[in-house]
This record gives sequence, C-alpha cells and structure tokens, in this order.
Amino acid sequence: MNSKSVNPSTGEVLKKIEGLGEKEVLGKIKAARIAGKSWREVSVERRAGLIKKLASVLRKKKEVYARLMAVEMGKPVKEGRAEVEKCAWLCEYYAENASRFLKPERIKTEMKKSYVMFEPLGVVLGVMPWNFPFWQVFRCVIPALVAGNVCVVKHASNVPQCALAIEGVFNAVGFKKGVYTTVITDVKTILKSIPWVDGVSVTGSVAAGRSIAEVAGRAGKKTVLELGGSDPFIVLEDADLEKACEGAVKSRFLNGGQSCIAGKRFVVVEKVREEFERRVVEKIKQLKVSDPLREETDLGPLAKEEFVKIIKKQVRDALAAGGMLLYGGKEMKGAYMMPTILTNVSSESSVYREEVFGPVFSIIPVKGEKEAVEVANNSSFGLGASVWTKDLRKGERVATQLEAGMVFVNGIVKSDPRLPFGGVKDSGYGRELSWYGLREFVNVKTVVIN
Ligand code: NAP
Repeated sequence: MNSKSVNPSTGEVLKKIEGLGEKEVLGKIKAARIAGKSWREVSVERRAGLIKKLASVLRKKKEVYARLMAVEMGKPVKEGRAEVEKCAWLCEYYAENASRFLKPERIKTEMKKSYVMFEPLGVVLGVMPWNFPFWQVFRCVIPALVAGNVCVVKHASNVPQCALAIEGVFNAVGFKKGVYTTVITDVKTILKSIPWVDGVSVTGSVAAGRSIAEVAGRAGKKTVLELGGSDPFIVLEDADLEKACEGAVKSRFLNGGQSCIAGKRFVVVEKVREEFERRVVEKIKQLKVSDPLREETDLGPLAKEEFVKIIKKQVRDALAAGGMLLYGGKEMKGAYMMPTILTNVSSESSVYREEVFGPVFSIIPVKGEKEAVEVANNSSFGLGASVWTKDLRKGERVATQLEAGMVFVNGIVKSDPRLPFGGVKDSGYGRELSWYGLREFVNVKTVVIN
C-alpha cells in the first residue's frame, strides 16, 4: 500500500509513503463530515475570502511546486509555473463569483413565493490523476468547497508529494482541519469508501471512471467523470496554415503529450497536407527534450518508464497498419521519448482508436470538410475538438456537427475557469469549471411558500 515518488528523469526513488488502510480512510471521511457541519454554516463570502488567500500562497511558492512536479512526474519547470499560476487564477475567479453563482433563484409561479437554493451535498471525494497534479485537484475541489462541501482527495499514487504539498496550501491559509483532506491510499480502499461519501469526482482513464461509477451507482452516489480523450484537430483547406501548425505542435506536445485535451488525431485536408507536414516537422525538430528542471526544456520524460513501452507499441501498430513515419522513432534512455510524427494513419490502428498519452503526432488525410467531420466523430471519445478555417461561419457549422464537449475554432482546446469543461461518450459526463461545475455537487433545492 506504499505510494512511491520516483523521479522519472533518473529513476531515483525520492520517497515512499505508507498508505492508509480502510479504517483510517473511513476515519478521515468521518472527520471531514464533522468539519462539514460547521463549514456549510460559514457564509459564502467568508469561504470565498479563504479561497482567495490560497492564490497568494500558490504564487509565493510557485517555484517550489513547479520543481516538485518536475522531479515527481517530469513536467518541464516552465509549464509547472504556468500550472500553479492557473490554480491561483481559478481560486480568484471562484472567490469573486461564488456569491453570484450561489444566489437563490426566484421563479415566478402562482404560489406566493417560489425559489431555488443551492445547498452543499456534503463530503465530495476526488480521485485524481498525475498529469496536471495541481490543476486537476484545484479545478475539482475549489468549486465544491466554495459551495459549502468538504473534500477528501485520493491523488494518483505516483505523486504523493504533490498531494501533501496541496494539503499544505490549505493548511497554510487556515482552513479548518477536515475541510480539505488528502488520503494516501490504494484503489481498493478508495472504492470501499465510496458508500460513505456524498459524491465522487473522478479525473482519469475510462477504466478508472467506470469502476468508480459502478460502485457509486450501486451506492446511489452522484458522480462526475472527466476521462480520457482522443481529440480531433481539423485543418481545412482555407486554414491559416502557420497558426494551425503552431497550435498543433503546442497542443500535442504540452506536458510531454500527456494531456487529456491534447490534439491527438490531426485530420488534415489533402490539399494542404504536404505543406502542413513540412511545417510541423520543422517545428518539432526545434523542441528540446531534456531534464525538466532546465529552463529551455520543452519535453521532459514521460511520468513513468512503463508508459514508453505502451506508446511504442501503439506506434509499431500504426506503422504495421500502413502508417508512415515522418519524424522520430529514435531510442532515448529511460522514460524519455523522442517526439514522433506519423502520417497516413489508418482508422484501424491503435493510435487512432485508443488514447495516445505521449508525444506522438498522428496525421489522418481527408478529402474535405464532410470526411473530416466523419473521421473526427469516428471515435469512442468525445472530449474536445479543434477546427481551423478562415471562414468562421464554416467553423461554427463544423462545431455543431462534432461529437465533443468542447469545440474551439482557430484555437487549441484549453481549460478556462470561466468556461465549462467536460466530455461526452467515453470521455465522461458532468462538467467542471464555471457556473456549471459549481452546480454539480449541490442540492438544487426548490422552496415554495404559500
Ligand atoms: P488513471 O490510471 O485512471 O488514474 C487516475 C486516478 O484513478 C488515480 O488516482 C488512480 O489511482 C485511480 N484509479 C486507477 N484505476 C482505478 C480503478 N480501477 N478504480 C478506481 N480508481 C482507479 O489515470 P492517470 O494515468 O492518472 O491519468 C491519465 C488519464 O486521465 C488519461 O486517460 C487522461 O486523458 C485522463 N485525464 C482526463 C482529464 C479530463 O479532464 N477529462 C484530465 C486529465 C487526465 P492510482 O494512481 O493509485 O492507480
């Protein structure tokens, strides 16, 4: 039941942390429930005030947290700083808007008075992934906390130091014990704890989401599932090719290619394909793969050495199914992997059918807009999608046809506290962020006065 922190860059074991057993986890949930009784009575304004203070601690210790992410899961330090900054923005956003979001809504009926109020559900369990170890947790818990819930978080087992550091941020601003709790434990134990909480938010793989939703369903608990993706990135023949290529490389290689909303299937109209490929190869050649602690690094190692094997198998499979290697493929040491570009990728290959969680850029040529939409939708996933065209009307038309939770025209898919985030199909259900995310873990209570 040990949680292990291993530097993927060197293979060095940084820390082993003994995980909690079932009894201890249930004890933490019980303590959270008790803390929740007084937290829900605290005014929204006071909760928001505390949440705002988190932003200043995050900013003050930005460098420490960015370096921790670099050594624990390989994120380049410059991306780590941006991640911490984004968490601070999120805290400020909810601190500023929570009162408005939670204000009771009057609804006119024939009754004397009728309205809807938003009350906390109680204890929200977060089951979190390692890829954005700070952002995913803050994005999940801040809206829940500001609405008056308390949160218990089981982070991924390879980032226990990030998990403890996050708990430290909450302690530093004076959150009462039990309002935010980290539990370092294993999957089996966390599944057993689900009947004792009031809702579960999972960010992770499809398999993890389904196993949690199954247990939660049996216990009648609300779930939000933020799962994997294989986002299409559509380049139409009238796209601004330079901007599309810049966006494509940025989207695919952020966080070493380990992002749920990375463009993963590059659906490119035949007429511009050759030029797109040439420009993308040029840009990828400039990416620096190195120690994530170095300022100039664009791609660090993957978070675990075993991930390299999985991705290499997906690449071999794509080549066997008729794909062509345009760049990459050379061996690197340990958990490092060279950025790789494939073209002529077939719909039968695993890089098309599965999520590729690493630095592999797959190009699928199509004849035109109609086929681009068909290819984009020919996936079990439905998280984000990106469309590139100078004709904005066409862009909006394509957006309405895509089976995705988020579509960006002439931009890469990114999360933003002001906009709802989430997917359809195997990518999950429910939303995080914005007004919509805040309303996921509340009792929408109707009150009628006669
Ligand atoms: P993961 O292996 O599914 O792990 C995520 C969390 O779920 C971890 O805490 C993990 O615990 C736990 N877990 C794993 N298997 C479980 C099971 N069968 N039952 C219950 N809990 C389980 O995913 P990951 O490798 O950390 O993250 C990568 C995946 O997350 C990708 O598919 C990515 O697309 C997705 N993701 C989605 C979003 C989104 O917003 N849609 C955002 C980020 C990432 P242990 O670590 O102890 O195994």
